Amino acid sequence: MTITVVIIGRPNVGKSTLFNRLVGQRVALVDDKPGVTRDRRSGEANLFGLEFRVEADLALLVFDARAGITALDEHFARWLRRSGKAVALVANKCEGREAEAGLGEAYALGLGQAIPVSAEHGLGMSDLYDAVAAVAGKAEEALPDEALEEGEAEAEAPDET
Ligand code: GDP
Ligand code: MG
Repeated sequence: MTITVVIIGRPNVGKSTLFNRLVGQRVALVDDKPGVTRDRRSGEANLFGLEFRVEADLALLVFDARAGITALDEHFARWLRRSGKAVALVANKCEGREAEAGLGEAYALGLGQAIPVSAEHGLGMSDLYDAVAAVAGKAEEALPDEALEEGEAEAEAPDET
């Protein structure tokens, strides 16, 4: 099952770092408009065997948990809530205790509990996997049986080591 995912967030929260970790290789910058689309890149990503394209069934809203919630994070959250898209809130830079306060503040964005990760250190990737897999699962339910059989092998996650 291939779903599309877009990574959104203010500058310096770690979008590129997360993207590179998910994709596992450098890919071409396909769109560099200022504003919300300024860092949009496209590529096949692979998270524990779950394949998806970085673009649009699910938005990952990334914020810097060490910096806490800013006005721009609130702006993105409001915009995504209104979009009606599936959104997973991702708290990056959570490898240390400095992230705790920001992680607590994040619930006020109205997007549910944030998923703590460290894109730089590769932490929290299995929880992020679960969030992406939940959306992929819903997309699969909407498919006819034949398509489902084809998609199953790809969506299976190997054990985490
Ligand atoms: P972007 O502007 O949102 O694409 O952010 P970048 O991926 O360019 O990262 C901005 C800065 O945050 C860089 O200096 C990264 O090394 C750093 N960074 C990214 N992820 C993490 C993380 O998980 N922990 C820490 N401490 N720093 C990170
Ligand atoms: Mg970037």
